[in-house]
Amino acid sequence: MSAIDDLPPLREVIRRHELSARKSLGQNFLLDLNLTARIARAAGPLDEVTVLEVGPGPGGLTRALLAEGANVIAVERDERAIAALNEIAAHYPGRLRVTAGDALTFDIAPRLGAGPIRVVANLPYNIATALLVRWLTVEPWPPWYDRLVLMFQREVAQRIVAVPGSKTYGRLSVLAGWRAEAKILFDVAPSAFVPPPKVTSSLVQLLPRVAPPACDRRALERVTEAAFGQRRKMLRQSLKQLGVDPITLLEAAGLDPTARAEDIPVEGFVALARALNPTFA
Ligand code: SAM
Repeated sequence: MSAIDDLPPLREVIRRHELSARKSLGQNFLLDLNLTARIARAAGPLDEVTVLEVGPGPGGLTRALLAEGANVIAVERDERAIAALNEIAAHYPGRLRVTAGDALTFDIAPRLGAGPIRVVANLPYNIATALLVRWLTVEPWPPWYDRLVLMFQREVAQRIVAVPGSKTYGRLSVLAGWRAEAKILFDVAPSAFVPPPKVTSSLVQLLPRVAPPACDRRALERVTEAAFGQRRKMLRQSLKQLGVDPITLLEAAGLDPTARAEDIPVEGFVALARALNPTFA
């Protein structure tokens, strides 16, 4: 039995269900109950909250979320883990819904009910950025979730929270900064995972902005792709590939044509996106 519930220890669950970690599924499990409790608390308070958890695996974080009072919708791609998760569901009647499937295509819309929804996950690193981009670009906006609390490789976490002028500032920082307020909550050493990954991880919180400045998301993607694709070049050069006169675009956005991508704050990129597609201004 474990300290937080009457369920068996995670190592036993892994052994019984033959859940040896698979690299192809980005499996680095958290078996330390103090750490999973710390993550759940950082995402809380969770009473009356429904949590979407991507990749529950053997269920360590899931159990911490349930113990903190959350109801959990869990989406797991590894069929081997489903039986283990159903044991947890039986222990918490009506509070854990397990879906076997791919989080990249999972549609939460039919499961939305009353009360806040929060996404909390120790993400599989091979699809972590793709999932974040998906959540940051959901329509309609404001989104169906009130917060994202997600574990990334630290290098990705630093790109998410980066500010202008830093080497890690890039397309992901602009998208995250446009739609959310992001911050790193704490770092987690490789030794906390089984098996340990090669890099340190960071837990990131993203609070969606209720009213981000209006612009066409695709235009924003196009300008950041062009600008950061040649980040050492001046914008008057790097924006040429957009197929419109860069000087006119930069003037309309009120930006210095000799500036470089990493000097431009989020609002500057929004202004460029509006200049590119004025129907959203
Ligand atoms: N939450 C568990 C923990 O903290 O110990 C496991 C985290 S592990 C880093 C990532 C989990 O995501 C694995 O259980 C893996 O099988 C699952 N996974 C990988 N790709 C997935 C996908 N496309 N959709 C849903 N789950 C996925």
